Amino acid sequence: MATGDYYDILGIPRSADEKAIKKAYRNLARKYHPDVCKEAGAEERFKQINEAYSVLSDSQKRAQYDHLGHENFTSASKGSYTGGGGYGGFSSDFQGFGDIFDFFGGGFGGPRQTGPRSGSDLLMRLQVTLEDAVFGTEREIEVSHAEPCPSCDGTGSSTKKRVACALCKGSGQLRQMSQSIFGQFVRMSTCPECRGLGKKPESLCPDCRGSGITPVKRKVNVRIPAGIDTGMRLRLEGYGEAGDAGAPNGDLFIEVAVRPHDRFIRQGDNLETVAEITPAQAVMGSEIEIETIEKRTANLTIPAGIQHDTALKIPGEGVRRRGRPGDLLVRVKVRVPRQLAPEVRELYEKILEAEGSKSPLKKGFFSGFMGKG
Ligand SMILES: [Zn+2]
Ligand SMILES: [Zn+2]
Repeated sequence: MATGDYYDILGIPRSADEKAIKKAYRNLARKYHPDVCKEAGAEERFKQINEAYSVLSDSQKRAQYDHLGHENFTSASKGSYTGGGGYGGFSSDFQGFGDIFDFFGGGFGGPRQTGPRSGSDLLMRLQVTLEDAVFGTEREIEVSHAEPCPSCDGTGSSTKKRVACALCKGSGQLRQMSQSIFGQFVRMSTCPECRGLGKKPESLCPDCRGSGITPVKRKVNVRIPAGIDTGMRLRLEGYGEAGDAGAPNGDLFIEVAVRPHDRFIRQGDNLETVAEITPAQAVMGSEIEIETIEKRTANLTIPAGIQHDTALKIPGEGVRRRGRPGDLLVRVKVRVPRQLAPEVRELYEKILEAEGSKSPLKKGFFSGFMGKG
C-alpha cells in the first residue's frame, strides 16, 4: 500500500508536470475504479488516487502541499475522506465514471478561474459521549491548518507586493500552437512559473518561501450544543485553509459522532433504558428506582398487570434540546427467577393450584426425569 505521500501514490517524481500527473492519474483511476477492479483494497486505493490527484492537479493546493509537507497538509482534514460531504477539494466521493472521465475529455481545459480564491474548507471528526450530547459540553481541539504568512501578509513577497508573471504576462495560462493535418491547434496550459495565478511575489518572503502561507496549530474551544446527534456538523468560520492573498480563509466543519452508551439508547430526543422486574411485580404492580443519565434516582411506578416489554415514560429525563427535553422510556422486562427460596416456591405452588394448573413436580414422573425432588 502507498505510503500516503501523494507523489508516491501516483508514482511520479516531485518534479512531474501537469501532463505527467494527469497521465499517471488516468492510468491508475482506470485500473482501480471499483466498478472495474475487484481486487481487495481497490476502493481504498481508488480513493487515495483521487485524493492525491485532487491536490496535485490544483496548482495552488500543490504549492501548499509542497510547502507544508504531507503530514501538516492532511492532518486537519483527515475526517473528510470518509465523510461523504462535498467540502473543499478533499472529498473523494465519486459518483461514477462520469466524474473521472470529465478530467480526461478535451485536454484543452477551459480558462482557469481568475482572481484570488478563498481557502478550502476542512472537515474534522469528533467523538462525544452520549452524556455530552444530552447536556452539551465544551471541547478543546487542536486545528492544524495554513494561515496567511504574518511576515508578508500572505502575499509571499517581502515587499508585500505581487507583480504580473513575466512568463504568462499575468494570464496564468500558456498558449501553445501546433500544426496537424486537421489544422492549427491551440493548447492552453497552466503557467508553471506562477502556477496559474498570473501573479508572483515581487521578492520572495524568506519566512514562507513565497507561498504566502504558513502552517499553524491552534487550540480552539468548541461548544458542543445539547441535543447534538451523530452526523451533525458544527462550523467554525475561518478555521479552514488560508485563501489567496486578499481572499477569506475556508471554514472548519466538525462532524460529531456520538458514542454508544452501555445503558441508554438514544431515539431522537428520547432515551431508552431497560428495567427488569419479577413476575410478582408485573402481576401486582410495584415501585422501582431508575438511575437517569444525569445519575439521579427517579421513582417509577409499575402498574399492576404490566405486560413484558412495555415501555413506561419518565418525562423530561431525555435529551435537553431547544429547552424542551425529551423523555426517558423504561422498557420493562419480566424476568423469571431460576432459583426460589422455599417459602416463595410454596406460594407459587399455591398459585398454580388456585389457577387449576398442574404442577409437574407433583406427578412424580417429571421429578425423576429431571433428577430433582
Ligand atoms: Zn505565469
Ligand atoms: Zn511570507
